[in-house]
Amino acid sequence: MSNIVAIVGRPNVGKSTLFNRLTESRRAIVDDESGVTRDRLYGKVLWNGVEFSLIDTGGYVSGSDDIFEESIREQVHVAIEEADVIMFVVDVESGITDLDQSVAQMLRRVSKKVVVVANKVDNHQRALDAVEFYSLGLDEVYTVSSVNGSGTGDLLDAVVNIL
Ligand code: GDP
Ligand code: MG
Repeated sequence: MSNIVAIVGRPNVGKSTLFNRLTESRRAIVDDESGVTRDRLYGKVLWNGVEFSLIDTGGYVSGSDDIFEESIREQVHVAIEEADVIMFVVDVESGITDLDQSVAQMLRRVSKKVVVVANKVDNHQRALDAVEFYSLGLDEVYTVSSVNGSGTGDLLDAVVNIL
């Protein structure tokens, strides 16, 4: 059995913080600044009796938006190849950016199951702001705060259901 879930998204949306929260580890490096090269990280998650591997694909290189776009493209390709389910993490604090749009465009074309994770929903107002992510044209949007853990239970319920 190999259930694999990959986390993708542009820098700074909170992918590594989410990875750490879901795997209850501190293995992914959380960075306040964009632009550090990192390898992929693998962790295990057990939820409702279902185990899966979680991949933080968040390694990227510093540089211009072009380089970002290129490395995110690479990330998404890895996820598409390796994962059964893709968590596409976006940031409710910053809203939808051009890079989010290009990732969404790639993901709309793949046959893998994708869940949109609207992160940094630390309070009720931000939950309301998160509806804008439905415009990305990907099925489900789950709101979470990777910092305080809210919403992660519902997200995990959904993920193990579709695995
Ligand atoms: P990554 O580049 O996508 O892996 O993002 P990181 O996990 O390194 O996080 C980038 C920044 O966002 C860090 O300063 C985190 O503390 C912050 N962050 C991550 N999750 C949350 C959240 O749920 N709420 C808030 N307010 N900040 C968050
Ligand atoms: Mg990261």
